[in-house]
Amino acid sequence: MSILNRRDALKISGVGALLAAASPALARSAKAKAPKAAPAALAFFPGAYVEGQYALPPLPYAPEALEPVYDAATVKIHHGKHHAGYVNGLNQAVAKLKAARAAGNFDAIKGLSRALAFAGSGHALHTLFWHSMTPGGAKPSEGFKAAMAESFGSLEAGLAQLAAASNKVEGSGWGILAYEPLSRGLIVLQAEKHQNLAFMGAVPLLACDVWEHAYYLKYQNDRGAWVDGFMKLADLDFASRLYDAVKLG
Ligand code: MN
Repeated sequence: MSILNRRDALKISGVGALLAAASPALARSAKAKAPKAAPAALAFFPGAYVEGQYALPPLPYAPEALEPVYDAATVKIHHGKHHAGYVNGLNQAVAKLKAARAAGNFDAIKGLSRALAFAGSGHALHTLFWHSMTPGGAKPSEGFKAAMAESFGSLEAGLAQLAAASNKVEGSGWGILAYEPLSRGLIVLQAEKHQNLAFMGAVPLLACDVWEHAYYLKYQNDRGAWVDGFMKLADLDFASRLYDAVKLG
């Protein structure tokens, strides 16, 4: 895989520093002066960061592509309003932090750090979320299936844990399948809001949004039915390719 693919994945994880610490080679590659992104390097998250600013990436499919499981009306509002809001919040936090450094005034650092984590994780997870689904779902690679079996006993057991974790998030949040670099294995996390309950260093590979805005138009209070639908759309081919790009050694 290319260095730039790794860099894109690290950016989206928000945990590049820890991963880099775990892998001197990766740290060197992240610092290396790479040429400006070639098209092939944008394979994972095209449009999520453009010309020095975070940006709302285009959907990887038409809004109605996931019908009838995920309705076009929800997809349009979710992407165009909710996801866009996190992008704006993230850019604002970044700008305010830059201004604070310039002024040498860190009185607002707690709130700004909180905004960076909330909006940044919101942007990262929504960007991954759109790629976590594909019409009809997609199968994992043989290598990823084996990694799931190694970590969870079987592919099916890992996916069952992801569905259960997603369904049982307290309040608004996410179910997340992630690569964990210390064990070099896979884990399932719950996130409350976007950033709480993190296992720092873990790189999300597949993310199920269980905020009410993600499903309420079609599923109302039946979060379980939405999670069942998400699992039918799950793009385990994308997760497999992202896993190959971010795994160490
Ligand atoms: Mn959402």
